[in-house]
Amino acid sequence: MKCVYCFQPVHPKTDWRNAFLPGRPSRLCEECMNGFEVITEGCPRCCNPRYSETCPDCRQDSALLSNTSLLFYNDFAKEWMARFKYRGDYELIASMSVFLPYFVRGKAVPVPLSDVRLEERGFNQAEAITELLMKRPRPYLKRSHSEKQAKKSKQERERGANPFLPVQQVRGNLLLIDDIYTTGTTMKQAAAVLKENGADSVRGLTLFHS
Ligand SMILES: [Zn+2]
Ligand SMILES: [Zn+2]
Repeated sequence: MKCVYCFQPVHPKTDWRNAFLPGRPSRLCEECMNGFEVITEGCPRCCNPRYSETCPDCRQDSALLSNTSLLFYNDFAKEWMARFKYRGDYELIASMSVFLPYFVRGKAVPVPLSDVRLEERGFNQAEAITELLMKRPRPYLKRSHSEKQAKKSKQERERGANPFLPVQQVRGNLLLIDDIYTTGTTMKQAAAVLKENGADSVRGLTLFHS
């Protein structure tokens, strides 16, 4: 077996993770695996690894109850992400499943891409992560493509900068899924629309926290 990232041979027997996660054999070599930094401590609300108390981005109230991020978006993760976006390689995203929790609560809502972006990229990385979590992606949101203000309809201007639109009424506790959490603006905007449309609660899960 070869590492899906660097193509060096992987020796599954010597990888301790395989002993604990038999259903999810690591497809990354040890060196690549060690390139990722698992977040063990951070802001209690958004997992920002630079803080141990509530970070400045989380001090204001928002529709997003909390966010869990699994890995620090370090230089290795940035390179990995650039390659993943370029190749759109399912093997590459599947290699991340060793870092994902076995079980997550709530209906999974992948953060959507705009139609234009989806056309360009050919896949939605948030949806790929949702599938790795063995969850059914719920298409509760649409995302409008950011264009010049003049091109926006009156309704869009009134909505301000929020690019998300509801697709249907929703119910229950939702889990918003995305690849990277930066300041949380995207997740908070998406959460606000879901709450307005009937969600009981919205939490977030992202692979990386920058
Ligand atoms: Zn490797
Ligand atoms: Zn925070």
